[in-house]
Amino acid sequence: MLKGVKLRLYPTQTQAKQLWQLFGNGRFVWNQMLAMAKSRYQNNPSSQFVNEYGMNNLLKQLKKEYPFLKASDATSLQIVNHNLAQSFSRLFKHQGGQPRFKSRRSTKKSYTGRFSASAKVVIAKRRVKLPKLGSIKTSKTGALAVGKFKRYTISLDPTGKYYLSLQIECPDPEPFTKTNLVVGIDMGVADLAITSDGDKYDKFQALWETYQATAWQRKYNRRKYKATINVRQWNHNKAHLTDMVINDYQNWQRARKTKARYQQKLANKRKDYLHKITTDLVKKYDVIVIEDLKTKNLMHNHHLAKSIANASWSQFRYTLEYKCQRYGKQLITVKPNYTSQQCSHCGFQSGRKPLEIREWTCPRCGTQHDRDVNAAVNILNKGLKNAG
Ligand SMILES: [Zn+2]
Repeated sequence: MLKGVKLRLYPTQTQAKQLWQLFGNGRFVWNQMLAMAKSRYQNNPSSQFVNEYGMNNLLKQLKKEYPFLKASDATSLQIVNHNLAQSFSRLFKHQGGQPRFKSRRSTKKSYTGRFSASAKVVIAKRRVKLPKLGSIKTSKTGALAVGKFKRYTISLDPTGKYYLSLQIECPDPEPFTKTNLVVGIDMGVADLAITSDGDKYDKFQALWETYQATAWQRKYNRRKYKATINVRQWNHNKAHLTDMVINDYQNWQRARKTKARYQQKLANKRKDYLHKITTDLVKKYDVIVIEDLKTKNLMHNHHLAKSIANASWSQFRYTLEYKCQRYGKQLITVKPNYTSQQCSHCGFQSGRKPLEIREWTCPRCGTQHDRDVNAAVNILNKGLKNAG
């Protein structure tokens, strides 16, 4: 099993400078290779595309021409070529757009490299050894005890923090003990999830962070707008010696950082919350049936509440999926048609009901239903029927 671990990284000032160069080198190689591919195509549209192998050959030339590239971990530049080749092959299969040039001003910087097979990564408590950078301080290394290190990614996010993501190959985890219990789950807007056993999981809420994130997004937009106008006016009056660029506006830059910090906090809290719920469910049940959300609500999400719920739903579904796989449980998805209209007791179709009706009684068999629990039971039945 491949496991991802993300740590904070605390480079020294020298290392931070070095990292700046290495981020730049990756971008440089990407842009050079892309420019090469583009001009090759322009000169002769029928010329053959230079593949990853060809790009790696060109890289040798590039290193001779630009010695500063030797400061980089060689594998990291090969991975740049690999990514570019991938992105071209997606383009040729009509799965993606044109690869774009990377900008120096992009807010997120990162590069990825491979460890050699004999690499010793953790060298002390809270210290790892990375190619070209040497010993570097990290947050807790306790989780890294077992496994073989494959890849690393160093990134600098818009808030100015450095991270190290490691890909580690480790033995499969012990499956969770079997409970012989099955469950259906209905995803809602008022509650995040309702189970066929009648358990309700609250929707994710972080009022303070949400408030700050939206407030700073607003400030960011306003400041950017003002800065754009000022820059245009300044540059329009040709009386000055130098042109101004929008990035010179510190006020706007500050808003960008603060906004990013709150959005990150919000995302982390949501992730934690969903991890707790999904672990609970996977421990408790052997078979979990959920709706195929693609067809349910992801199609028309014009409401803000819904689009926020959607973010949680898709993450919930994704997390549930890999946890079931990892811990030996089964996940079944069913089409969500009619699950809220049918009586789960006798199968009577009672027709479409407006959202505000939370409880109803079946006109045929007289069973009292909670709208969401009934839907969850229908989902469970459907799933078990499909599974045979
Ligand atoms: Zn009924």
